Amino acid sequence: MRRSSSWLFEPAYEISRTIIGGAPVAMSPSLEKKVNLKQERALTLLANFIKSLGQGRGATVQIALARSQDGKRFLVTGLNSTAKWTQAQLDKLGNLGINIAPQKLPELKRKDGEGTIHAEQNIASYLKTYGLRGERWSCAVVGTEGSYICKDCQSLIRNYMGGFIEPGIKLSKCPDRPYKKYKKT
Ligand SMILES: [Zn+2]
Repeated sequence: MRRSSSWLFEPAYEISRTIIGGAPVAMSPSLEKKVNLKQERALTLLANFIKSLGQGRGATVQIALARSQDGKRFLVTGLNSTAKWTQAQLDKLGNLGINIAPQKLPELKRKDGEGTIHAEQNIASYLKTYGLRGERWSCAVVGTEGSYICKDCQSLIRNYMGGFIEPGIKLSKCPDRPYKKYKKT
């Protein structure tokens, strides 16, 4: 994917030492080990863990695995524009080395006019800015309702960003903090 132009670009900024946006940092060997991509719901469980450190209702945490043209792999997370990251989430993402996509302004409406910008769209914008191609996406837990990606975002992934979507999880089978081993990082 070619590096794309101007309107997508968002300057990086920093909140309490965690960088939002900015040039993506490739997955470290220790992050590769923790995430264990052989597990078919690896990103979904990780996204749900990050979500559990923040607001529940009204928030969608999405995590995508992406690849650069020279073959490096990156994890990029995004939040819908009407939600806010908590300090605990930012600290954890910073510690793990997961890139955070900037959020478009909450006032911005999606093209279909149905609502504000989704987590997947914020990630897509970041991937395009840095010429990354999607490889795999979590089937994130949306609000408190279930694990899914809306039709618009599914088509964004299928037609423009690339990558497949992991199978979903059942909320009843999804303890608050499935990834306890991340607690100490
Ligand atoms: Zn969506």
